[in-house]
Amino acid sequence: MPPEIAIRGAGPAGCALALLLHDAGRNVRLYERRPRAAAAGGLRPLALSYASRLILERAGAWRALATTPIENIQVSQAGQLGRTHIAARDADVPALGYVIDYAALTAALAARAEAAGIRIEYGSETDAGAAPGVRLVVHAEGTAGDASEKRYAQDALLALVGAEPCAGTTAYERFTADGPLALLPLEGRYAVVWGTRTARASQLAAAPATEFLDALSQAFGARAGRFVSVEGRAAVPLVLRVRAARTEERAVYIGNAAQTLHPVAGQGLNLGLRDAWELAQAVRAAPDPGETALLRAYAERRRLDAIATIRITDLLANLFLGTNPLAGAARGLAMIALDACVPARRFVARRMIYGASALP
Ligand SMILES: Cc1cc2nc3c(=O)[nH]c(=O)nc-3n(C[C@H](O)[C@H](O)[C@H](O)COP(=O)(O)OP(=O)(O)OC[C@H]3O[C@@H](n4cnc5c(N)ncnc54)[C@H](O)[C@@H]3O)c2cc1C
Repeated sequence: MPPEIAIRGAGPAGCALALLLHDAGRNVRLYERRPRAAAAGGLRPLALSYASRLILERAGAWRALATTPIENIQVSQAGQLGRTHIAARDADVPALGYVIDYAALTAALAARAEAAGIRIEYGSETDAGAAPGVRLVVHAEGTAGDASEKRYAQDALLALVGAEPCAGTTAYERFTADGPLALLPLEGRYAVVWGTRTARASQLAAAPATEFLDALSQAFGARAGRFVSVEGRAAVPLVLRVRAARTEERAVYIGNAAQTLHPVAGQGLNLGLRDAWELAQAVRAAPDPGETALLRAYAERRRLDAIATIRITDLLANLFLGTNPLAGAARGLAMIALDACVPARRFVARRMIYGASALP
């Protein structure tokens, strides 16, 4: 039977939406440009929030995922005083987040979708909306070509680093004058997401391993132990890309197709999964899933969460750049104050976990 809802892109947002809608009895199909055999790219560590866990649980996909929990996050700035420690108990959650590699997440979600009986057409660039009977096309294909774009003066240098002692359940975000440097625990090692000047990122991606590990130790310090090995290095450009409108006639944009963010604070997919969750709630029992008023109401409900997350992420990407000592001291004082104030830590942690939307 032809689908009533066509989803372009079997990335994490598209697959999660397909599972939620299929579970509600809707007839959905995924159209994926990649061939079935092609893996979904190189290393890209993702920190999923506790809210994303809840969404993926409700999509029936969580149990199949092998994730590393984050129970503590240490935030600091290089060369300046100030540090904040946020723990899972600050937000009343079992873990602040869960780390998994993008390719593993995508493969597991696609396998779950197919096991549930959802058809995925791989190698498909066809106009999914042209199929007879389709009443709603969901754009979940990642990049939105016709969105406004800001290129950051940073690339993300990615790497998987072995440390002594092994990584546990603490993640680190260290703001340096060049950009934010995150260490995420992933199966005993640290996945590094290092925002730094474009030329430096390329140079460090190609440098001998010892040179890279020395540079990482210098930028990060010793709080995570000694870095002893590295693999999977790559530099990826960073952009902020936001679509002016989330809906068109019988079409809606979710996840990165609606907004692509800087990876600082790991918000992009978490926001995209909240898009998928709220769209599924709007559409699940609707007589016509592509009705204009329904899509407009969905877009309106997503506005605050999206704008707030985009602004916070963009602010964090730029806030710590440069070496002005007065600005550094002010940021340090803010971090010390946050560290000392339990309600403020709780507010920040829950805002990063759940976004500004209604809790799932
Ligand atoms: C370095 C880095 C680190 C990140 N870390 C985090 C993090 O810690 N936490 C977090 O929440 N987010 C993080 N993100 C963001 C996260 O990766 C994205 O938000 C997420 O992948 C978006 O998922 P998506 O399903 O919307 O799009 P995508 O993951 O881009 O998937 C889109 C899919 O659509 C397919 N496709 C493309 N064009 C077409 C077409 N024309 N027809 C059919 N299919 C098509 C693609 O092949 C792909 O499979 C990070 C991003 C980067 C770059």
